[in-house]
Amino acid sequence: MPETQDQSELIRGFFSHSLEKEEIAFMYLGYAGIILRVKERAVAIDIPHLLGNKEIDAFDKLELLLFTHNHRDHYNRARARRILKTTNAHVVAPAQVTDDLKGIIPSDRLTTASSESPIRAGGFDIVAVEGVHPRPISVYRISKDTFSVFHGGDSGYAPVKDYPAKVAFLPTGRPSPSCSPESALRFAMDLKPSIAVAMHGTPAQFSKFKDLVEKELPDTTVIIPENYKTETIPL
Ligand SMILES: [Zn+2]
Repeated sequence: MPETQDQSELIRGFFSHSLEKEEIAFMYLGYAGIILRVKERAVAIDIPHLLGNKEIDAFDKLELLLFTHNHRDHYNRARARRILKTTNAHVVAPAQVTDDLKGIIPSDRLTTASSESPIRAGGFDIVAVEGVHPRPISVYRISKDTFSVFHGGDSGYAPVKDYPAKVAFLPTGRPSPSCSPESALRFAMDLKPSIAVAMHGTPAQFSKFKDLVEKELPDTTVIIPENYKTETIPL
């Protein structure tokens, strides 16, 4: 556990924070871990290894849980099981993860990510794209009505021009060997997001990414997130 402090109050605050109609909220948990609230629904990506039992029990709800791949800083079976028991969320993940969860959660709650066909799960439309990493990895565009979000795991650049997103969570480097501020910029140039959130990197990589985006994509705002802070952004 990278965080030894009890963060359950902050997570409770995230779920009880009242949202304007045209707003979404997100919380960054470190590495590529994100929780998102969109209207009455919640989505999480690459989170369970970052949370203790108290934090998991603080979840008000979760409709959709995505994993980009099974590296330790993105997926942990025991934590995933706990969060799924608590929330009943639907899982979308590459086969290495869904195979690992078979028999642990009901199969109708498990969808193996495939770049061949779009996925509907947890009330969202999901497109999985094969990323670039030492292990099989999926990066995702998640959408619903006017909302669209991209999550790049800790993948290197892969073409995603066909899947524009208003908000993009982009990996900028450490401890992944595949991504960098430059690969995150290439994702951003394909996606043309209004807001790009730096993740999975060092503070220096976050700020290098911010500088690159400000130069190349003046219409995109970059957020360097603080761990466990509730951030709201317009839809
Ligand atoms: Zn990895």
